[in-house]
Parts: sequence; C-alpha cells; structure tokens
Amino acid sequence: MPNYDYRCEKCEQVFEVFQKMSDNKLTACIKDGCSGVVKRLLGAGAGVIFRGSGFYETDNRSKSYNDGASKEKPAPKEKPAKKKVSE
Ligand SMILES: [Zn+2]
Repeated sequence: MPNYDYRCEKCEQVFEVFQKMSDNKLTACIKDGCSGVVKRLLGAGAGVIFRGSGFYETDNRSKSYNDGASKEKPAPKEKPAKKKVSE
C-alpha cells in the first residue's frame, strides 16, 4: 500500500498516511481540533521514482538507436533479427 505525505497549512504538521490508490485524498488535518487544509507532498512516493527511471530508460534507448542509425545507414528503419524468428 502506498503512503503519502501531507502537510497541514494551518499547523504545519507533516504526517504520513497509508491509503489505497482508490481512496480519496486527505483534505483535512488529522490533528484534534485543527482541521486545517492539508496538501499532499509530491516526490516521496516509490511510484514517482519508478516512473522517472522508466522515462530515462526510454529516452536513453531512443537516443542510442538514433545515433547508431545515423552512423551506419541513412535509412531509419532497421529490421531486427527477432522478426525472422517470430515469423
Ligand atoms: Zn493541522
């Protein structure tokens, strides 16, 4: 289950809440007698890190592909050996 960090704008308390993706976002401070507006803090979840590395990998791969294509052949399409095996 992912956990989220929230910060209360009224008392500035930061707290961690475990909730399902389907659960509603927390909107009010959990501290007794406060009930201030809370905002979710970004950048602390594992999901964000995973997404970031995924983007990097895709970007890196397409860059090296383009470099190789421009060095060897002017044609952008290169048939991999895999295609023959699968057919
Ligand atoms: Zn509060």
